Amino acid sequence: DPSLRLSLRLIPYSDELWLLVARDVSKMMRLEQMRRDFVANVSHELRTPLTVVHGYLDMLDPGDQPEWAPILEEMRHQSQRMTQLVEDLLTLSRLEAQDSVVDEEVAMDSMLVTLRREAEALSQRRHDISVEDRAGIDLLGSTRELHSAFSNLVGNAVRYTPAGGSIAITFARTADGGAELSVRDSGYGIPAAHLPRITERFYRVSTSRSRESGGTGLGLAIVKHILQLHQARLGIQSEVGSGSTFACRFGPERVHARDRAFTPVPA
Ligand code: ADP
Repeated sequence: DPSLRLSLRLIPYSDELWLLVARDVSKMMRLEQMRRDFVANVSHELRTPLTVVHGYLDMLDPGDQPEWAPILEEMRHQSQRMTQLVEDLLTLSRLEAQDSVVDEEVAMDSMLVTLRREAEALSQRRHDISVEDRAGIDLLGSTRELHSAFSNLVGNAVRYTPAGGSIAITFARTADGGAELSVRDSGYGIPAAHLPRITERFYRVSTSRSRESGGTGLGLAIVKHILQLHQARLGIQSEVGSGSTFACRFGPERVHARDRAFTPVPA
């Protein structure tokens, strides 16, 4: 049966004997696929009507009814949020359906320039932003997806750091010959109890603060998926009141072949 999917576990039984436990997970995987297809289809179907509503809202003018201005503004804001949510759901569906990424050369110098520009645009001079390239190498992977992952982390750092705080983006080599892009902020921080679940879809520490911050609750789920596709890991360190560091760790195989011979510079 080509649709049969088994999950196998080998359990030590005695000195010489092992137990092989095979579990039929076909049904579970079929249901999971149905859930994914459903989310992808619904998101896709919502896209067109949302574009139409958004387009007409932009054309509306309060005219001689000034009390309509804040209402229109709020409607535009909410339809913008809904559009972002649908886009994020579609991104997540696309990532879930993928099991590998292209291996193109990811120019990290221009990536860092872009991230700095984005951080500055979001921060509007409310934070002290620093960007440092300690590695001077390039990565292998999908430039578009990696940019989306890093950019999500930078966006969170700005959104969850009060004015006057600092944000540091650092690209460095790791001891194993790989590389790490980290985003450190001096913001609100995340209570330890929430950390294990923080990358789940729609999981949020404080609903009100997160909603005000304008996110969709899907950012870190997207980051995790993109990193998984690059066999990379997301390290999170955080302390309430002093800030958080999100580190994307890439193995040596993700360092561009040209740069692999360089010995990592100790931090
Ligand atoms: P959201 O759109 O709500 O920001 P994310 O998936 O990006 O969704 O993040 C999930 C939750 O993790 C956020 O709602 C917030 O509570 C917490 N979080 C993410 N990044 C940070 C950060 N840099 N500092 C503090 N909390 C954060």
